[in-house]
Amino acid sequence: MEPRFSDLQACIIDPEAPLVIVDVDEVLAQFMRGFGTFVGRFGYELRVDRFALFQNIYRPGETEHLDLIAGKVLFDDFFRDGADDLLPAEGAAHALADLASRAGVVILTNAPEHGRLARGQWLKTHGFDYPLVINSGPKGPSAAQLASRTAGRSVFIDDLLPQLESVAASAPDITRFQMISDERLRPLAPTAPERHVRIDDWAELRTAIEAQLFA
Ligand SMILES: [Mg+2]
Repeated sequence: MEPRFSDLQACIIDPEAPLVIVDVDEVLAQFMRGFGTFVGRFGYELRVDRFALFQNIYRPGETEHLDLIAGKVLFDDFFRDGADDLLPAEGAAHALADLASRAGVVILTNAPEHGRLARGQWLKTHGFDYPLVINSGPKGPSAAQLASRTAGRSVFIDDLLPQLESVAASAPDITRFQMISDERLRPLAPTAPERHVRIDDWAELRTAIEAQLFA
């Protein structure tokens, strides 16, 4: 899929400043916790026993997960209706605000288009009032496009290894960091710390980003 050209163009990038390109789910937002609360409203439970999403939804007491189509419907509905269940990742707003005093910040999320309004509102409410790019598919091309607009250094933060690999392939000069806010997902998530530094704590991540951007 192509990056959303209009979102990318709408971002105002300081041509001199360093740039922080940051994901939302499991980075700024506690996605799994929020999604678990949301599906609980419909009588289901989310079991975090593998690194998957709608394959982890069960009827209480059952061992077979909910069929994938029903799971996908809940997943899609969550992006439209689940904002109240979604909590920010601890320390994220403070860390980003601090970085934003010296760097540009762009939020690059793969939320579905029907979640744009809710997602934008949620981000503002929780102190993440930065330009928002709704992406679809691999994030490398979008991240490369954003980073190309500044002479400063850029970093990219995401929970998903394929997205980190995509950015490494499209724009190897962007330093990648992997962050996973959910403690239950941390041991399950595919990771490659030799290529993309893995830091699951925002205070620590902020320090590492500062060292990368401002050294
Ligand atoms: Mg994510």
